Amino acid sequence: MTRDLTHFIGGEHVKGSSGRFSDVYNPATGEVEARCPLAGAEEVRAAVENARDAQPAWAATNPQRRARVLMKFVQLLQRDMDRLAEALSREHGKTLPDARGDVQRGLEVAEFCIGAPHLLKGEYTDGAGPGIDLFSLRQPLGVAAGITPFNFPAMIPMWKFCPALACGNAFILKPSERDPSVPLMLAELMLEAGAPPGILNVVNGDKAAVDAILDDEDIAAVGFVGSTPIAHYVYSRGCAAGKRVQCFGGAKNHMIVMPDADLDQAVDALVGAGYGAAGERCMAVSVAVPVGEETADRLVEKLAPRVESLKIGPYTAGEDVDFGPLITDAAYRRVRGLVDQGVSEGAELVVDGRDFRLQGYENGNFIGGCLFDRVRTDMEIYKEEIFGPVLSTMRASSYEEALKITMDNEYGNGTAIFTRDGDTARNFLNRVNVGMVGVNVPIPVPLAYHTFGGWKKSVFGDLNQHGPDAFRFYTRTKTVTARWPSGVKEGADFSIPTME
Ligand code: NAD
Repeated sequence: MTRDLTHFIGGEHVKGSSGRFSDVYNPATGEVEARCPLAGAEEVRAAVENARDAQPAWAATNPQRRARVLMKFVQLLQRDMDRLAEALSREHGKTLPDARGDVQRGLEVAEFCIGAPHLLKGEYTDGAGPGIDLFSLRQPLGVAAGITPFNFPAMIPMWKFCPALACGNAFILKPSERDPSVPLMLAELMLEAGAPPGILNVVNGDKAAVDAILDDEDIAAVGFVGSTPIAHYVYSRGCAAGKRVQCFGGAKNHMIVMPDADLDQAVDALVGAGYGAAGERCMAVSVAVPVGEETADRLVEKLAPRVESLKIGPYTAGEDVDFGPLITDAAYRRVRGLVDQGVSEGAELVVDGRDFRLQGYENGNFIGGCLFDRVRTDMEIYKEEIFGPVLSTMRASSYEEALKITMDNEYGNGTAIFTRDGDTARNFLNRVNVGMVGVNVPIPVPLAYHTFGGWKKSVFGDLNQHGPDAFRFYTRTKTVTARWPSGVKEGADFSIPTME
């Protein structure tokens, strides 16, 4: 019998009351694992009211004590790592080591947020004028919300709620309805760690819940991560409602391979970054851009056998599986359809994983690794974010052409260059219009104490995720000018005070 999942509101599991549910699958078997309740406006409102009522006392708790809750949360994540990873793999399909990485990358943001008391210190000018002190405070926004995608069901929720809570906000998390179990477990752990009920709420749902969040007057800020069309929609509607909004969207990440690169290293990098997590990563490398025909020939020759021998399987098959199934049957059909289209548009399918079948898992969403060569910018497989285990090779005749291909792409999340030449690398990282750049590093996801964010259509709004930017996003500045009697002048002043 399938389980009915819940929401988590006011520190308790709450059954869905809208009467709408969506199925949550095990992507390896195609079986329905659970039903996810899809909240309507009333359920969102109940969560917001809980959050709004709990927030002032949490904001008044001294930042060191709030940080201690995060410290305890980190310990609980470590204690429950295997349980979380198993639940994550079961609903998402990624391998267990990759699921542990998903939890760990979120944990590292929680760890960074333990430093909140330091990051929340304001600025102070002693003696800004006669008897005048000037200082700024960083105050929480109140209730913030996060809307997150299916592909990192542990990490991205934590990127959102850890800094929000550390800053003294209450939080409404609307995770992906495709793998909602881990976000619910995270909320339980945060309660166990000592966050008061109502400070972290999980409302499951789809567009109806998102719209209710965007329209709710008590929600001051919304952070979103997902595909670009929805990111744009959330940004536009949230901004129109007067909220602070930051939305992170899709990607098409290029990796340039220069003729002087260590090709074996580049091949290792492309195989891991192109096919890890079945390519369902916003920082996956989906386009390899070798410079020069000879580099391209050698690269494709080395890549092909590696792609053919990738080990694909369910997370239960052991730790040496390279990647698992796609999230849903719809995702499988979409990726397969794009590969078909690439072939019909004239790209050369060097490795064809379309007919991959796994005995005993015939209903799973498995597709084998696919490798295209001679992809052009006018092809659909280039224009679309495929979000599957499909790597396209685009041959460039020069460094300038490779750079232009990367820069002309509408997305700007991540990119990388593989070269031994410092000058070329330096030129690339200075000129490229992409938010996260790797030099001989294929997936340059910054660590928790730096910030994460793309450029171009990979982002709407300013400020990045985690790192110091998160503390700016989840607080607002109040600046105080104070004058005490010794500095008070007599008489009214009718012109604007200046320092002249
Ligand atoms: P998605 O856009 O389908 O869903 C993201 C969230 O939006 C989910 O919570 C979903 O319930 C909600 N949503 C879906 N349709 C909606 C609608 N019509 N109106 C309102 N809300 C809606 O994305 P996904 O498939 O879950 O995730 C994959 C995408 O996320 C990829 O494009 C990937 O590149 C992107 N992503 C980006 C980053 C980043 O930091 N830039 C990180 C991870 C994933």
